[in-house]
Formats: sequence, structure tokens, C-alpha cells
Amino acid sequence: LQQHIQRNDKLVALGELSTGIAHEIRNPLAIIKAVAQTMKGELKNYPEAFRELEIIDEEVERANKIIKSLMDFAKPNRNETELYSFNTLLQEVLTIAGKYISQNNVLVRFSTEEIPEIVVSKELLKQAFVNLIFNAVEAMPKGGELTISTRLWENKWIKIAFQDTGIGIEEDHLKKIFNPFFTTKDEGTGLGLAMVHRIVEEHNGVINVMSKLGEGTTFEIFFPIHGEVPSV
Ligand code: ADP
Ligand code: MG
Repeated sequence: LQQHIQRNDKLVALGELSTGIAHEIRNPLAIIKAVAQTMKGELKNYPEAFRELEIIDEEVERANKIIKSLMDFAKPNRNETELYSFNTLLQEVLTIAGKYISQNNVLVRFSTEEIPEIVVSKELLKQAFVNLIFNAVEAMPKGGELTISTRLWENKWIKIAFQDTGIGIEEDHLKKIFNPFFTTKDEGTGLGLAMVHRIVEEHNGVINVMSKLGEGTTFEIFFPIHGEVPSV
């Protein structure tokens, strides 16, 4: 519990800091972009210089995207909650992500059990599940299988598992993957799992990860049915 409290304090501080910094960085970026636009007009007869300006443009856009995800992450989560079924929620998420999943040659197995509805923030959980699914797809660049299952666990918790047949996670990365900004991807922000972790905690849930290099990764999330926190 102590660890969780410290972690949340750190996240709140990080949130405030990053929103402030993000705003301050946006302004000079907007200026760089505007100047690059003007120069593109001036240098349109110099293809090499023009191409270099396009690189500036693209990189400014990339920085803007990172800032946007940072600000999304820092936004306090005030969301409506309602009694809802995880099976329905996951089905909705799979409908949204279906195209992306199949385009990447990933086959989804969705295995459900009858589970009770619990009070959730639908929007936050969708965001968390989409993040886990996207990570799984990204871990299977040649395609593979993603098994998503819902189970009633010891009559007290709902267990949701996301199991992929991807590249796996190195042992010394396992403790870091939930840290904000930890990423092994060239274009990653490292904010996805930090967000997932926070959303799960906001539902009094617990998330575990198991992974084997070259074989795959499983994320298990436990949500208490009656409000107690599971001891997993
Ligand atoms: P990002 O996806 O932007 O890198 P995340 O917070 O979503 O950030 O994930 C952090 C890191 O955890 C990833 O860069 C990757 O190294 C690792 N990771 C997350 N999910 C998986 C997975 N299903 N398989 C393998 N590695 C994963
Ligand atoms: Mg991610």
C-alpha cells in the first residue's frame, strides 16, 4: 500500500510538472513550425533545403504528438461510472480495434465466462484495454495470436487476461514497464502502461505481467467484485 501511495504522489507531481512544461514547449514549437513554413516558400527552388525544412516540419509534428500524449496522461481522470459488463466492454473495444488487429495479421481469441457486472468507468477502461491490445499487436510484428479471456476468480474477482505470442519482455525490463516514459520503441512514448496501471488502480484492481522472451507476454488484471482488494 505504501508503495502505491508513493507511486500515486509521484504521478500527481509528474502530471503537474508535465502540463506546465508541455504548455511552455508548445509555444516555441509553434514558432519553429511557422518559420519553417515561411522558409519553405522562400526556398522552393532549392530542393535540398526544402527537403530539410520538411524534416523540421515532421519532427516538430512528432514533438507535438508526444506533448499531446503527455498532456492526456497528466489530465486528472474525472469520469462517469456505471454498472457494466466487462464482456460487453471488451467486445466494444474489439470492434473499435478490429481493423488494426487484422491488418497486422493478429488473430484474436475471445474467451468469456459469465461474470457479474461491476461499477466501472467505461471510457477509462476502454482506453486501458486498447493500450494493452496495441502493445500486444506491436509485440507481434510478424503476426500471431492474442487471447483475451474473462473469468470469475474465487468468486471475488473478475480476472481479465491478455495473452500474446509476441517477442516477450526482458527480465530486467519487467519492473520498469509501468514507469512513465519507459519504452523500448523508437516511436514509443512509454505512457501507455503507466496509464493502464493508474486506471486499474482507480478501479481498486491489480495488474500482473508474466513474460518469456521469444514466447510471449500475459497481462492479468483482477477487479474486485465486492470492493475488496485482491491479494495477488
Ligand atoms: P510504448 O508502447 O509507447 O513503448 P508502453 O507503456 O505501452 O509504452 O509500454 C512500455 C514498454 O513495455 C514497451 O516499450 C515494451 O518494451 C513493453 N511492452 C508492453 N507491452 C508489451 C507486450 N505485450 N509484449 C512485449 N513488450 C511489451
Ligand atoms: Mg504502448
